[in-house]
Amino acid sequence: MADRFLGRIVVAIDGPAGSGKSSVSKEVARRLGFGSLDTGAAYRALTLAGDRAKIDPQDPPALADFLNSFDYSTVTDPDQFRASVSGIDVTDAIRDPEVTARVSAFSSQPAVRHFLNDVVFPRVISAYPHPGITIEGRDITTIVAPDAAVRILLTASPEVRARRRGLELGSPDHGAVAAALSTRDALDAAVVDFIHPAPGVHVIDTSHLDFDESVRAVIDLVEAYSATTATGRLTHDSPS
Ligand code: C5P
Repeated sequence: MADRFLGRIVVAIDGPAGSGKSSVSKEVARRLGFGSLDTGAAYRALTLAGDRAKIDPQDPPALADFLNSFDYSTVTDPDQFRASVSGIDVTDAIRDPEVTARVSAFSSQPAVRHFLNDVVFPRVISAYPHPGITIEGRDITTIVAPDAAVRILLTASPEVRARRRGLELGSPDHGAVAAALSTRDALDAAVVDFIHPAPGVHVIDTSHLDFDESVRAVIDLVEAYSATTATGRLTHDSPS
């Protein structure tokens, strides 16, 4: 198969909601001069558009038609994250709680997963010339980029994840946030295993790490990789 990552250094990061993978992936990309692909954002945008078009994800012909017309774009620059569907910006809308609650209904459909993995993500990645890319989601270390230079499962205890997500959402109702997280984890885990690391995947438990320590832990693994291969040279340690 052709190299869908065009020779770029791929840092694959999986993890459950609230593990910090999105912000950590973007910061790692920033520090290394890499691009960053948030695959969850594409699942969210697809869900938003599907619901707006009243698509039943369990109706295969309707879903297939919808996928054919689904026009998603995003940027991999970690400082410019935007998402749009058919040219309309959905960067904020995809974070709505209604979308979060509905996304598993679409992401559990194999047709959706194949479409994003085989059509949308390769197109987004090839559009930008970064020397490397962090890709984060649920099935990146196993399905999307099983041969990535560095594969990481970023985890945190359920309590820590619920606290972080509550802070992000500005919600004081810890119980409700924890319950919503655990429902979504259960639905998502029925489709892809992002709880147990596949062979060769490094586990980073961020329960007791602050943001900077989490970023450092990922960069340490990328640097260890680059030390073992001439092609793994990082932009920030190249001789000037
Ligand atoms: O990472 P985030 O919480 O934004 O992901 C939103 C949803 O997208 C997840 O709950 C999951 O249903 C789906 N997803 C997925 N596979 C990925 C990334 C996200 O199924 N690689």
